[in-house]
Amino acid sequence: MASKSEKKYRKIKRTHIVGSLIWFILFAAISACIIVAAVQMLLAYVIDTKISSEYESLEYMAKLYENGKAAGNEDIYAILNEEGHGYVITGNDGNVIYANGENTISSEGGPVTLPVKDEQVLVYRDTERGYVFPSNSGRLALDLNAFRKWMSSDLDIEEKDPEFIDVNNSILNLPIWISFDAGEGEHFIGKAIFRANRRDSIMFVTLIAVIAVLIVVILIAMLTEAIKSFVRQRRMLDLFFKDMVTGGHNWTWFLVKGEQLLKKRIHSNDKYAVVNLVFVNYRNYCMCHSVAEGEKLLVSVYKKINSYIGSREMCAHTTSSNFAILLKCSDELEAGERLKRLIGSLETIDPDHKFSFQAGAFIIDMEKGLGGRRFTKDDIDLDTAYNNASTARTTLDDNDDSGIAFFDEKLMEEHKWLDTVQERQQAALDNEEFLVYYQPKYDPRTNELKGAEALIRWNSPEFGIVPPGRFIPIFEKNGFITKIDHYMIKHVARDQKNWLDKGFKCVPVSVNVSRAHFVENDLADQIRNMVDEAGTPHEYIEIELTESAFFDDKRAMIRTINKLKEYGFAVSMDDFGSGYSSLNSLKDMPLDVLKLDAEFFRDENAGRRGEIVVSEAIKLAKNLNMRIVAEGVEVRDQVDFLAGEGCDMIQGYFFAKPMPGDKYEEKMAEGKAEISQAEADVSAP
Ligand code: C2E
Ligand code: CA
Ligand code: CA
Repeated sequence: MASKSEKKYRKIKRTHIVGSLIWFILFAAISACIIVAAVQMLLAYVIDTKISSEYESLEYMAKLYENGKAAGNEDIYAILNEEGHGYVITGNDGNVIYANGENTISSEGGPVTLPVKDEQVLVYRDTERGYVFPSNSGRLALDLNAFRKWMSSDLDIEEKDPEFIDVNNSILNLPIWISFDAGEGEHFIGKAIFRANRRDSIMFVTLIAVIAVLIVVILIAMLTEAIKSFVRQRRMLDLFFKDMVTGGHNWTWFLVKGEQLLKKRIHSNDKYAVVNLVFVNYRNYCMCHSVAEGEKLLVSVYKKINSYIGSREMCAHTTSSNFAILLKCSDELEAGERLKRLIGSLETIDPDHKFSFQAGAFIIDMEKGLGGRRFTKDDIDLDTAYNNASTARTTLDDNDDSGIAFFDEKLMEEHKWLDTVQERQQAALDNEEFLVYYQPKYDPRTNELKGAEALIRWNSPEFGIVPPGRFIPIFEKNGFITKIDHYMIKHVARDQKNWLDKGFKCVPVSVNVSRAHFVENDLADQIRNMVDEAGTPHEYIEIELTESAFFDDKRAMIRTINKLKEYGFAVSMDDFGSGYSSLNSLKDMPLDVLKLDAEFFRDENAGRRGEIVVSEAIKLAKNLNMRIVAEGVEVRDQVDFLAGEGCDMIQGYFFAKPMPGDKYEEKMAEGKAEISQAEADVSAP
């Protein structure tokens, strides 16, 4: 399918071509009409004025002959001869009775209408001198075609017939034979001469010149219009394809021209690498210098890439620090080598700085095609290929090092999984496929159940139990997480209410609320309404804020925390210690609980130094009047240590893994953790 850009591009091209074509046809039609009308009017006028007097004198002669014949005048021919016109008289059998003048006439001829008199007359051919020129319409008008034929006939006009064309005086004399009914079946056929004197010639030449000028003007106008429209089109396309920052090509150009190139090579066995090249420290550079300086650098980068690629390869500047490149390659290895060299030369593009560039690439293999079959034109999708390249690029570490990554099967799988999750998310929610698991929190000194955390699982009919790590990050990116948060709060509130009604000794359950949710101003009210709807006392619900939440609008965050506390919900900071700003955020956030990140209790962090950090964190929380929960605790030594340091609760596999509601009910009923059981839990697969 043609992309949007391709369609737009075609539209621009088509609009201008159709525009020019319409203009051209309109111009040509109008000018042709004007020219034809002008010539006809002029000729009609000329013939009218030139022939009418001749016609009148011939008509007079015909009358003279008819009257003379009726009166039996023997001298009638002598009288007629004095009139100076050549003439012929034919009898009712068509034979010539009398002829005067140098020319005879043939019997060829036909009726035409005389323009002035609107009369039907017979016009004959002059056998010696050529033709008279009745037009096709049957009117006595100059037939240009016949006239031209006559002009180019092998008749040597000058020599044979000086009367015909007086070259010296530039006078043209064309014979026109006109027939009049002379009674009793006889016809008087007189020779009229169509004379053109110098003035007429000048007029004629002027007319031709005017027409020629007109044609030239029209042609120039049409040509100018065509050129203008071509230039307009080029300008439009330039704008359409131009990148304003580098002055080079933009993403649209890359997409349209790139797909054209790939579609042309569809039957080849070529391989192409679609590359997303990112200038990693562009933003930094702009901050230290200026955006204008940064853009200058982008121009150099663009030029450098362009000088590096071959004639059948492409490069465009897409967005601020991103470039799209299309490289022809024999395999991934070669593409990688070339990109490495390119990045190498880009890193030192400014001798005073060392820059880093990262590239993600996706290989289009014409031979391998798609799912075991060759590509069709519709399969060529540069947009998706570039998107894959960008995805590959994002797998590179976000630090300042250069690097190259290719889109591979694993990423493809992740991509597919992403699509699957996004496709099913709403149905899964509607069908209540999301389950609430509970992970108990115990007091390490008394082993008493003190709380729990609600953790989501997706019980998919297709994929079985899916852990949150496989879908929560996707929901956080696409915003669906807010619906999940609501879902979890509602379910936990309902469960708690249910358990309270059943007489269980309930403890507060914390629910994770995603950072994305905290942009909503009325979050605290939403939570309160949902909990109230279930009829659960607020002290049984705790809200866990992931640490990254604290990077957002801090004041809004504090407002929400205060409101939640005002409504009687405890608020905890999740994953404390997993980021560098957690200490700082503690200063302003009026939190109730601090959850020590599980990383503190991983093997490599254990040891004396680790213990000091944990011990100080606990002291800090105590001084701030906060309760402290240690997460991810798996070993008895850690439990003992934490108990000694005064840690309030432990949430970890040592005591219990997250479990479905019915299992959690048992834990509530037990109230105290069975340590031997807890140790067995950790070692369980
Ligand atoms: P989290 O909030 O830090 O949850 C604790 C995670 O650590 C849970 O993983 C839990 O099973 C695991 N864990 C607890 N004790 C131990 C231990 O001793 N050893 C080990 N190795 N792991 C332990 P889970 O349930 O897979 O959840 C992963 C993350 O998914 C959660 O991390 C949380 O960020 C997110 N998540 C889970 N449920 C929800 C939810 O309902 N809403 C939101 N927004 N996020 C959720
Ligand atoms: Ca949590
Ligand atoms: Ca946590």
